[in-house]
Amino acid sequence: MTQSLTLEQQIDLHITTNGPMSVATYMGLCLTHPSRGYYRAGEPIGRAGDFITAPEISQMFGELIGFWLVNLWQQMGEPKAFTLLELGPGRGTLMADILRVACRAPGFRDALNLRLFETSPPLMAEQKARLDVYDPKWLENFENFEDGPVLVVANEFFDALPIRQFIRKSDGWHERQVGLLDGKRAFGLSPTPIPPQSMPDAVQDAAPDTIFEACLAGGEVMSRLAKIVAVQGGSLLVVDYGYAATQTGETLQGVRRHAYADVLDAPGETDISAHVDFGALANVARQAGLAVQPLATQGQFLTRLGIGERAAALAGANPASAADVRAAHDRLVGDAQMGTLFKVFCAHSPGLQPPGFAA
Ligand code: SAH
Repeated sequence: MTQSLTLEQQIDLHITTNGPMSVATYMGLCLTHPSRGYYRAGEPIGRAGDFITAPEISQMFGELIGFWLVNLWQQMGEPKAFTLLELGPGRGTLMADILRVACRAPGFRDALNLRLFETSPPLMAEQKARLDVYDPKWLENFENFEDGPVLVVANEFFDALPIRQFIRKSDGWHERQVGLLDGKRAFGLSPTPIPPQSMPDAVQDAAPDTIFEACLAGGEVMSRLAKIVAVQGGSLLVVDYGYAATQTGETLQGVRRHAYADVLDAPGETDISAHVDFGALANVARQAGLAVQPLATQGQFLTRLGIGERAAALAGANPASAADVRAAHDRLVGDAQMGTLFKVFCAHSPGLQPPGFAA
C-alpha cells in the first residue's frame, strides 16, 4: 500500500506513526530506499545528473590507479588469482579505465576475479555494459571471497553511507533526529542523553552545541574488508572528501543539479553525503592488523603517480584535445578544485609499499 506513496510521504508517515528518526535512518532511506531512494531510482552522476566525479572528468584518474594496482600485484609476486573489488562503481568508468591499462601487464587479466558492490539497479546496468568483457560478479555482502589477495578500490563511496549526528548539551550528547514541526520536516534532538565517556577521545572537550558525526556503516564496511585483507593479503584504496583525524563539526550536505540543497527537502531527489572520518577508518584498519599510509591529498597522490607526464603524453598524442586535458589535470589536482578537498587513504597488508604516499 505504502508503495504508491512518494518517498517524502512515506518518510512523513513513518515519523507520524513512530516518532522522529535518526539522521542516519533518514539519510539511509533518502539514498537507498528500495524503490525510491536517490541511488536506486535515478541517474545521479554526470553532466545531466547532480554531480561529476574524478573518473568522469578524465581517463587519467583511472589509468593511474590501474598502474598503481599493477604495482601492488607485482609486489605481491604476481599471484595467479586475486580479487579486485570496487565499492560503488558508479557508471563503471573508473574500473574500465583501470582495467584498460592494468590488463596490459602479462598475467594480470588471467588472474583477475572482478567483484563489484553496488546498490543501484540503473548503475549496475551501466557497469555491466562497460565491464562485461571482464566477467564481473556483483557481491551482496562481503563473504565467500575466492582464495588469493584482495585489492579494494572506492571513489566517492564512503561519503554516501549514513551518518549519525550528536549534539553536545550540559547533560551529555543528544542524537539529532528528523521529525515534523507544523507538518514540515525539521531537525530536533533525542531527549535521552548519551554519556560523554561513550564518545571518542577526540571529542571529549567539545563545547556546548558542538556537532559530532559518526559513520557506523563506514566503520562496518572497513572492518569486514580489512579483516579479509589481513588474512588473504592486499590493500584498500579509498578516495573521498574527508578529514585525517576524528573531529567535531557538521559536514552533512545536500546537492541537487550541481548546487547545494537543503537535506530535508525533496528526499530521494537530493544527493546527501558527509565528509569521511579517515581517522576512524584508519583505527578500524589497524585493529584488523593492517598498515595505514599517511593520508595524501588527491593532488599529491596523482602528482606522485605521474599525472603531469600522463597529461603531457595525452596532449602530445592528440593536440586538438590538449586544452581539455590540461583543464582536466587542473581540476583533478588543483588546490582550489579537487586536489586538496579530496584525500587518498590506503590500508594494506604489512610489507607492501604502495606508491603515491609520503615515506
Ligand atoms: N565511484 C563512482 C560513483 C560514485 S557515487 C565514481 O567515482 O564515479 C556513489 C556510488 O556508490 C554509486 O555507484 C552508488 O550507487 C553507490 N552506493 C551508494 N550507497 C551505496 C550502498 N549503501 N551500497 C552499495 N553501493 C552504494
